Amino acid sequence: MAQLTFLAVHAHPDDEASSTGGLYRLLANQGVRTVLVTCTNGECGDALDGAKPNADHHDGDEVAKVRAKELDQAVAVLGINRLIRLNYRDSGMMGWPQNDDAECFWQVPVEVGAARLADILEEERPQVIVTYNEIGFYGHPDHIQAHRITLAALKLIDYEPTLYFNAIPNSIMARFRERFEQADRERKEENAAKGIVEPEESSEQEEIDIGTPDELIGASIDVSDVTDAKYDALAAHQSQMADAFWLKMDRQEFKMVMGREWFVRVTNPKKLDGVVEDIFAGYR
Ligand SMILES: [Zn+2]
Repeated sequence: MAQLTFLAVHAHPDDEASSTGGLYRLLANQGVRTVLVTCTNGECGDALDGAKPNADHHDGDEVAKVRAKELDQAVAVLGINRLIRLNYRDSGMMGWPQNDDAECFWQVPVEVGAARLADILEEERPQVIVTYNEIGFYGHPDHIQAHRITLAALKLIDYEPTLYFNAIPNSIMARFRERFEQADRERKEENAAKGIVEPEESSEQEEIDIGTPDELIGASIDVSDVTDAKYDALAAHQSQMADAFWLKMDRQEFKMVMGREWFVRVTNPKKLDGVVEDIFAGYR
């Protein structure tokens, strides 16, 4: 049988852990070759001292250096065989001035990024590919661009892989939202006790609906045996995890909450039906 190869196209260091960490470790344990394409260096992340990208002393190049090391560590934890960095600059959140940086990923013509990715796909020939949906899962320009270059790259290659988008079913999202809101309330109470007053969140900011209707889910993967690795991979991205609700859970709770990963099937050369429990269904 041909070597099974899995490849995910992610926007920033840490996305591989949060949306596909369980899947990566699970597939590595099964002997599947795993490849990660990380499009940007994450310059717009938090600095080690917690400084946000709009802070005066925030140095995107320094942040990228820290995040490169963190990514190496996460890649080791997840047993990823090959990491390819496209080394584009982080574009920041939608509407940030960084969106206009000529070197940022958002400004790269889709066909240019797609051609680079297509070369990687032709070389690795992954049967299964994962990236984000057209809203980049939650509206981040770099995630949207990762989606765009992946779809364009698939048109350039000489075979049809099975493409999935990562997703969280609406039913699960509702449970997560309760947790987010609770964590948010607790943080505000803590801050209030310390006398820190938080600015009201602007109501202009449109809530992006990041959930996916349950009936659109095409793969539901039980990763409960590898949640420790997923936890450790997230923890490796230490500089970005200050506000992460995940790591506030103990490992047992994390296993309960994070023990499954979901995907929407986009291309279907193997003519699969319904919800599969193996992302390589049809290939083995
Ligand atoms: Zn990201």
